Amino acid sequence: MGSKLYLIKEGEISLKGGNRNLFEKQLRHNIKNKLRPYHSEITKQKGRLYAEISDKAPDEIIRKALSTTPGITGFARAYMAKKSIEGIKTKALEILPSSDFRNGDSFRVTVKREDKTFPMNSHEVSCELADTVFSLYPEMTVNLKNPEHTLTCEIRGDVYLYTDEEKGESGLPYATAGKGMLLLSGGIDSPVAGYMMAKRGMKLDAIYFHAYPYTSEMALEKVKKLASIIAPYLGGLRLFVVPFTEGQEYIRDHGYEEEATLMFRASMMKTSERIARENGGNAIVTGEALSQVASQTLDAMSFTDSMTDLLVLRPLVGMDKEAITAVAERIGTYETSILPYEDCCVVFSPKHPVTRPVKEVVTRHFEELKMEEMIDKAVKNTVVYSFDPMGNEINE
Ligand code: ATP
Ligand code: MG
Repeated sequence: MGSKLYLIKEGEISLKGGNRNLFEKQLRHNIKNKLRPYHSEITKQKGRLYAEISDKAPDEIIRKALSTTPGITGFARAYMAKKSIEGIKTKALEILPSSDFRNGDSFRVTVKREDKTFPMNSHEVSCELADTVFSLYPEMTVNLKNPEHTLTCEIRGDVYLYTDEEKGESGLPYATAGKGMLLLSGGIDSPVAGYMMAKRGMKLDAIYFHAYPYTSEMALEKVKKLASIIAPYLGGLRLFVVPFTEGQEYIRDHGYEEEATLMFRASMMKTSERIARENGGNAIVTGEALSQVASQTLDAMSFTDSMTDLLVLRPLVGMDKEAITAVAERIGTYETSILPYEDCCVVFSPKHPVTRPVKEVVTRHFEELKMEEMIDKAVKNTVVYSFDPMGNEINE
């Protein structure tokens, strides 16, 4: 069975001193796991990973897998050449026709000569390879500073040739920094929040509070769709769907109207903490940003924080909507997030929510509501959906 070779560059991992092996091992595992239906072998050589992947794996699948895996700064399909200038040129002639090199475009050649016993120096090899490019594409031009295409030749123990390296996600491999529970709503923010924490190494599950029929079946479908879109960045996830209709109605009927959102958020924290702990999580992640809405003031956030002993992480807290939206567009969640199905907060939102709650007062009001039974019931009736690291829903 044949295989193809991909060269993978790690970014921040290479700065990790003693822990580097752990991070690298996890990254290799994460990549292999994504490509699981296909055979792959990943080896390490001087700060590089070389993945030999079965020929049966389509290029688009490999590219999706590598471009969404945090911890990778760049990657390219690579080819081994014979260790001689003839060998290198022959291989270049062979691979260039299936590359993006085109007449009229600009290019440069980069040669990295680590094996100092190779008889020609980098400059000489570059010139030879540039000639090879011109022999195929006489109307290309050289641009060293800002080329449209790059042909790279690395002369190490073996010789590797590749064109047009693609950018990776950078960051750190997920599952190297503990486990968290992402509060995932149908909005723009929370999928971005999950993506950001995954890039810092967290493994995440997600939880969604569903208030059917106030929120439609479509709202749930939207959240599932968002889960499947972020799954590749997170290495797959489980989505816990908590039925919270009764809880919402109870808060509406027994609480103070202007505090309804806070009471709901407190209930979400309590419920999320329970489900997180039952599943090995030790943090909660939300998509809140300071002052974006009434429930995201310092007072309100400090109240919801006090509802749980778990660490509450808000990676978007200092970002404005424009910046968050730009990330959402880049990772592909935006289009889905702006679909119109309302989330349950909107349906039960008070007209004049308190923005500066006094912690002692709202805490007492929350205690008086005695939400325990509601929460027990909601946890019991929670439904779990699973998504694999390529974003496919798995039927368990
Ligand atoms: P988003 O765009 O993520 O929905 P938002 O700006 O609409 O955020 P809120 O609706 O106040 O703000 O929600 C703040 C955060 O609370 C969300 O980012 C999400 O983490 C969490 N959240 C809100 N509603 C739900 C829900 N129904 N299920 C799970 N988490 C929720
Ligand atoms: Mg929302």
